[in-house]
Parts: sequence; structure tokens; C-alpha cells
Amino acid sequence: MLRIEDITDRICSYIQGPDIPLINRAYIFSAKVHKGQTRASGEPYLTHPLEVAGILTQMKLDEITVASGLLHDTAEDTLTTIEEIKGLFGQEVAFIVDGLSKISQISFESREAEQAENYRKMILAIAKDIRVILIKLADRLHNMRTLYYLDPESKKRIAQETMDIYAPFANRLGMARIKSELEDLSFKYLEPDAYEDIVKKVEETNKIRSKIIEEAIRIVSEELKKFGINSTVYGRPKHIYSTYQKMIRKGIPYDQIFDQMGIRIITKDVKDCYAAVGVIHSLWRHVPGEFDDYIATPKPNMYQSLHTVVIGPSVQPLEFQIRTEEMNRTAEEGIAAHWRYKEKEKLESKYDKKLVWLRQLMEYVQELKDPNEFLQMMKVDLFQDEVFVFTPKGEVKGLPQNATPVDFAYSVHTDVGNHCLGAKVNGKIVPLNYKLKTSDVVEILTSANHKPSRDWLKFVKSPKAIQKIKHWLKLEEMQRSLSLGKEILDKEARNYGINYNKLYHKGMLKQAARIFFYQNIDELIADIGYGKISAKQVIHGILPKEKLKAEKEPSVVQKAVRKIVERSVHGIKIKGADDVLIRFAKCCNPVPGDRICGFITRGKGITVHRADCPNAKSISLGSERQIEVNWDTKNHSPYSVGLIVISEDRPGLLAAITTTISNQKVNIISASVNTTEYQTATSKFVIEITDIDHLTRIINSIRRISGILQVSRIR
Ligand code: MN
Repeated sequence: MLRIEDITDRICSYIQGPDIPLINRAYIFSAKVHKGQTRASGEPYLTHPLEVAGILTQMKLDEITVASGLLHDTAEDTLTTIEEIKGLFGQEVAFIVDGLSKISQISFESREAEQAENYRKMILAIAKDIRVILIKLADRLHNMRTLYYLDPESKKRIAQETMDIYAPFANRLGMARIKSELEDLSFKYLEPDAYEDIVKKVEETNKIRSKIIEEAIRIVSEELKKFGINSTVYGRPKHIYSTYQKMIRKGIPYDQIFDQMGIRIITKDVKDCYAAVGVIHSLWRHVPGEFDDYIATPKPNMYQSLHTVVIGPSVQPLEFQIRTEEMNRTAEEGIAAHWRYKEKEKLESKYDKKLVWLRQLMEYVQELKDPNEFLQMMKVDLFQDEVFVFTPKGEVKGLPQNATPVDFAYSVHTDVGNHCLGAKVNGKIVPLNYKLKTSDVVEILTSANHKPSRDWLKFVKSPKAIQKIKHWLKLEEMQRSLSLGKEILDKEARNYGINYNKLYHKGMLKQAARIFFYQNIDELIADIGYGKISAKQVIHGILPKEKLKAEKEPSVVQKAVRKIVERSVHGIKIKGADDVLIRFAKCCNPVPGDRICGFITRGKGITVHRADCPNAKSISLGSERQIEVNWDTKNHSPYSVGLIVISEDRPGLLAAITTTISNQKVNIISASVNTTEYQTATSKFVIEITDIDHLTRIINSIRRISGILQVSRIR
């Protein structure tokens, strides 16, 4: 069992003049309050906080972190209060312990909305003090190491949660070592058979592999020395789970996973990294396309290294990772490497600049109010792999896999995204849904008049782009509803001898907003536009009774005006609102005589469908509001309608049909014929008619022509 002396010794090895009394007091307090408690293994509970503190010292963290690690379960599992911890150990420790207790209460299995809220809490805790998540990860690591003692159900649940949440988090924070151990341990409990299988195979092949690697290390070390490159060379540890993932991803058995063999070279400086690659490439043939320069292009989690694959001495591919000591620390410990004693001041600016991911996440936490949207964002963000592309000026952008130029545009600036018109990749024009590849140079073409499209949502991948596009569409819809609502209300008001502006200036709209429980006038007007509340309702709510009576008989002039207006809206009468924007649905082209229904479409006015139109039926189940519409029978302006005629394919038949139609005094707007291999012809006509009886007469007369097989209206 780890002793407190081991922990204080370690701290002394990396901190000058550490606050050892703080550690000792935390230890004694933890021992006191956990007294009598045991773990599932039967060991005293105290072993757990000690081990957690031990892991934190391996990460070389400061005394506050280690002390908090010793105390991390006191507030949650004992009678101790945060106030008490604050009194004994100070504000910082209390804050961290409080944050940890809150995270512990999070269940990642709960309903989506709650889960989202939990993530949000976690991110907020990290945002205030990154040490909270570092201790949480150490805590989870020790729990996973001792998971064996729990019941099967808890094993699965905790392992799954670790795989889903904590391992990706560690990865995102650049903590490769902890991430790999968490993954391997989770994998062991989630898929014991697959795990054992790989472990066995690794052992079987271990001897040969070690030999090959040793040989390669010997050769490369000698050569590096010859060139005066100071370095440490060693075989790279293998991880069970990443091997498994590779097998699954590539669909190949274990013995074909060659890059199982990896060698790492740690150099003094960056110059030597590149020099070492040169040496390696002069020794062995390198595999084309397998050289990655993460020094020039660090990953968003700050990872830096050179990767190359060569055909090694055993004629098998051999992977090299080359980096400096500092890069290696960052690669293995990630953000923890930057949270060291006396480095605190530097951290702020360092991860502000480099840990793009965390910074973006903070932005979402601030901006996204809808928990489900936030959750979606988190899911996308935790699991995505990146591609790295360049701006024309050589600046690097990390984007999700399959990201498009639109994602890129939004990553540059919201305005660039919102006005994105087209894109050039490596100098060539590409479609906006082009999938970007690492090292593409992307240039965005913008136009001040261009606007985001709903279609973009079908292909964009980055949380930022999705969020910004949705935001823009929402605003635009609001704007359209506002102007439509204003128009409808103005028309209605004029029936009572008043208009929109007068209502506004007399404070009546303010009054209406209050009466109908709206926060402000805009919301009320937008809802009139949406059709959620009628203009008449609003007018009746605010105008005095005597004014309302004035509406009854429109003047002769008004009547004339309305007649014209009615004509302009194709002879449709609508209750309440006489002449809002009306259009006929293209799917069913209603003509007078058809039974019809109308829908207020958000921000678009009224759409008229035939009552039996399947689209209308599906709409009426949706959010749009159905309203009553009727044909104005006095109106006789023509309507266009489509006809489809199937007939024998014989000469002169088309002429016969068109003559028949013309004889009914009908205009033919367009006609087209297609013949088929079965000696039939399909003709399409668009004609102008005045009402449904008229149409019936035309159809009947076409049917009487010989050789006609079928006549029907196009729906
Ligand atoms: Mn714990």
C-alpha cells in the first residue's frame, strides 16, 4: 500500500520548498473521516484517496491538487461539509472538492436533457479550475484499476461510462497515457473475450517483435550518434484497445497489424527531430504518404511529433515517432504537463491559445441554452477525428472529419460563414459540400449579399457551423414573420379606420403585448405572422367598442378596393384576413370547385391545397396552422391545371387532342409528348380553366376521342 511518506517524497522531488504540512493535514483529516469505511476489495477506504494522490504526484501536480486528491471523497461519502473543508484547507481546496462532489453526482445514463445539463456542469467546473478534471481522471483511473471487486452490473456500467466519457475527455485534454489505460481497462470489462484474445496474441508474438525492435533501435541509435544527434530511443508501448480498434477499422486479423511495432525517439531540440527523420529515411525506405508533421501542425490537444513509417530491417513496416522532451511530456500528459508548480500564470495564455477544443467548448456553454442541442454538440465534439487544413496565409485550422468549406468558413469568422458563396481548394473551385482533406489549402469566396442556406445543415460537421447556421435561419424566419405580421395587422386595422403606425404610436401595441402575455411587441407581431394569433383578435383586444362598430359597412370605395384585392388573390376568401399573401400549392394545383383548405406557413403567408391533397394531410398534423378558406364564386379569372393523357401512339392523335381542348375555349399553356416502347404515348398539357365544371367537360370530351386510354389531372 502506498504510504503518505511516498507521496510527500515525490512532491519534494519536483517542487522546491513544498507545503508538506498541508499534505499531512489533509491526510490526517481524510484518515479520520473515512475511518471504519472499507472498499469493495475489503481494504480500508483510505487506500483510495492515497492512490489517487499518488497518481497526481506522478503527474507532478502541485500541493493544492494533491491535498484535494486526498480529500476528494470526504464531502461526498462522509459527514464533512464544504464549509468545514474551506475552514481547514482554504478556498481553493474547498472549491475543487466541491466541484468533484458535483461531478460524482452526475449520472451519464440519465435522460438526454439531464445528461446535457451534467456535461455542462462538468465543463463549467473544468473552466473554473482545470485541476478538478485532473483529479476526477485520477479518481476514475484508480477505480478502474480496482473494478474487479465490484458486481458484474456495476462493472459494465462504470466501464461503459469510462469508455464513453472519461477516456474521450482525457484524449481531448491530450493525456494520452491516462486515456490508453482507461480504454484498456474499460475494454477488458466490456468485451472480456476480445480483450483476452488480443492479450494472448501479443504475448505469443512478443519475442519476435522485441527482437526486431531491439535490432532497429540498435541500428538507428548508432546512426544517430554518428551524426551527432543526442537522443533517447525506445520501443513504444502497445495498447490493447487501440490495436482492437485498428483490427475493426481495417477489418483485418491481429497478425496483419504491422504497425504494432513502434519506436520513439526523444531529441534535444526541434532541429534534431527533423535531422533524425533524415537519418531514418537514409537507413530504410519510407512508406509514401505515411509522413506526418505534427510539429508544424500541432493537433488541437497540443500534441506535437513527427511520424514516419519505414520498411524496417525485418522487411515489415516500422513506425517512428520523433519529438523533443517537452513535446513528449505534452504528448503523454497533455494539459497536466502545463499545470505544474509555478507554471500557473503561463497556463492561462497557453491553453487559451493552444487548446482550441476547450476554448470552443467554453463558448458553447455560454451560448447554447437548449440542453439537447448542447448534448449533440458535445457528442460530435468528443468523438470526432480531425482534419487539418490551411488558410491561404498558412494558418492551420483543425476541423472534424468530413468537414466542408462551409465549416472552414465558419471557423475563420461567423461573417465569412454567413456570406460564403463558394470555395477554392488548392486553387480549384469546389462545391460547398466538398469533403476537406488534411493539408488542403482552402480559400473562401464571399459575397455581401449571400446568405446561409438550410441545405448547408445537411453536410456541415462542426458544432460551430451548425450552431451559427441555425441561429441565422431562426433570425431570418423571425424577420419574415415580423414583416408579414405587421402587414396583416395593418390591413386589419385599416378596416377600423386606423393603421399599424397609429396603433404603435398610441401605445396600443404595447398594451396588446401585455394583454396577450407577450414579452414585447415584436414577439406579438411575429406570432401574428406565424398565424398563432389572429390580427382580428388583437384589434378586438385593444380598440374601444365604439371603434369596433365602425367596421360593419365598408364604404363604396372600400368595396371597390376589396374587389380588386380579392381578384389579385385568385378569388379566395379567407375569414379574418382578406388578402394576406396567398399561393396555390404546386403539389395539387387547386381550381375553383375543388374542396380546399389553407395553411398559414411560417413567414410565408397562406398556402391553399386541395382538401384531399396528401401533403395537406401531413401538414395538418404538423405545426402550421390550418385556416378556413373558400372560393369566391363571383370571381372568374382563369386557373392553370395540368392534365396527363395516355393514348395509343398513332399519328394525328396529338392534333386531335389539342383541337378538342381548343374547341372548349381553353388556352393551352404548354404541351409535351413522350412515347414508350409499348406503342403508347404520354402527353402532358397545362391548360387554363375557370372552374371545376369546366375542367370536367374538357376531360370528358378528350375521353371521347378514339385511341385515348386514360385522362387524368396531374396532382
Ligand atoms: Mn473517489
